Amino acid sequence: DLVNFSDFFNKIIDRFEMTKAQHVDFVRKIPNEALFVDIDTDKITQVLDNIISNALKYSPEGGQITFSIDVLPTELQIYIRDQGVGIPKGSENKIFDRFYRVDKARSRKLGGTGLGLAIAKEMVYAHGGDIWAKSKEGHGTTVYFTLPYNPEQEDEWE
Ligand code: ATP
Ligand code: MG
Repeated sequence: DLVNFSDFFNKIIDRFEMTKAQHVDFVRKIPNEALFVDIDTDKITQVLDNIISNALKYSPEGGQITFSIDVLPTELQIYIRDQGVGIPKGSENKIFDRFYRVDKARSRKLGGTGLGLAIAKEMVYAHGGDIWAKSKEGHGTTVYFTLPYNPEQEDEWE
């Protein structure tokens, strides 16, 4: 489906903002311009749902979650940044492995299967994008992913 990614992303964030139970502030760095991408909306919804629910799950009360889209020459770079517990140094890649969880006890308490990011990675790769994370233990985590973007796409559909 050809969608305006700015609108699409905002609508997903709205849904989390309306239903969140914690006191977490949402900050959006999303361009107002239309950014058309050709994506499987169900699959990218699943990718975002997982990344955002992780950010909420590992955020402290009163924390901030930042949502951003950067427009690069041939791709959109999206990130979701939290101020949560973080991931130990050197383990940022492992969180995309199936069933990998940083802390077994903590993860058991918070629920889930440890499959969310492995599925997200598969779906982003299927779109020709990439996904990775940067984190500082005790300070927070940023999950990035890219989607191929052609700025001329809009014109072609006029
Ligand atoms: P599921 O997504 O299947 O419900 P899950 O959230 O535990 O379970 P993933 O989403 O794949 O599984 O994440 C894997 C692990 O990576 C998590 O268990 C957690 O330890 C770590 N992790 C993921 N996102 C964050 C984050 N934003 N902050 C801290 N740790 C994270
Ligand atoms: Mg998850």
